[in-house]
Amino acid sequence: MKKFAIIGYPLKHSASPGIHNTAFQYYRMDAAYDKLEIDPVQFDVKLSKIKKESWSGFNVTIPYKQSIMTYLDRIDKAAQRIGAVNTVKVENDGSWSGYNTDYVGFLQPLEPYHPQIRSGLLAGAGGAARAVAFALCDLPYIERICLLVRSKQKGEMLLQDLKKYKSIEYYLVEMGNDKSEREYDLLVNATPVGMGELRGQMPFEPQSYAHKNTVVYDLIYNPVETIFLQAAKRTGLHIINGWPMLLGQAEEAFRIWTGKGFTIEIKQRVEKELR
Ligand code: NAP
Repeated sequence: MKKFAIIGYPLKHSASPGIHNTAFQYYRMDAAYDKLEIDPVQFDVKLSKIKKESWSGFNVTIPYKQSIMTYLDRIDKAAQRIGAVNTVKVENDGSWSGYNTDYVGFLQPLEPYHPQIRSGLLAGAGGAARAVAFALCDLPYIERICLLVRSKQKGEMLLQDLKKYKSIEYYLVEMGNDKSEREYDLLVNATPVGMGELRGQMPFEPQSYAHKNTVVYDLIYNPVETIFLQAAKRTGLHIINGWPMLLGQAEEAFRIWTGKGFTIEIKQRVEKELR
């Protein structure tokens, strides 16, 4: 049996085992997907041990998307640029290859909006925000990106990396100092503001940065509609939650491991079981 797992801490609420096990069952593959919750103080000891065991692949989540990189034998170009890996494939010779499928997952639901997105405002500078920022740079008509960040230092680092990658107009604004002088075609929340203990908050007021055709995208999938998305919806804006990205990044990881995608039936089964 092929063994897969998600590595992270904590992992109590991870949807990944449900998604991948549904797909393995659908294709009648002799494979299983588990959780490997690793306490940060044990990360190096556990990873050295796991590397000697017979696994076929991993997803990697908070807080290990960067620390996993030292255990990889090769890293895909896009993941290198982003500086984070969320998918590992164990090759036939036992070596580990790293990928970032958040990038692909984020872009999928934006496809119908490509022609209208020339500017984007992104809240956050963490692992997911880095994948989103490089994905925004790769949108065909993008001209202007603004990063809205809590910690200026992290924002500056991301900004420097983006500038090296693509020459367009960039702005960096600290949360609390934003004066909403501009409108954007796309607003993205890549912070946890709106979920868990931060459920009652939003990263910024979407209507302050929107025109009538702005698309508002929240990476959070639980709750299905954050108050950020609810506010955008009330103003009549197009909204996208984190669910299609979650499915999209999982499908891309599954494709890297098995060469197969998710059929409509898999997606329906996952939706029925997990949503
Ligand atoms: P992360 O690496 O911990 O980064 C979180 C970012 O949010 C950091 O920039 C952090 O600021 C900022 N932040 C945290 N709390 C904040 C607050 N109270 N106010 C303002 N900013 C705050 O986490 P991540 O992996 O990027 O994940 C971010 C979000 O995306 C989470 O909600 C996660 O569930 C979601 N996500 C969804 C998917 C999907 O498939 N839908 C995939 C990945 C992530 P500092 O830089 O100052 O620490």
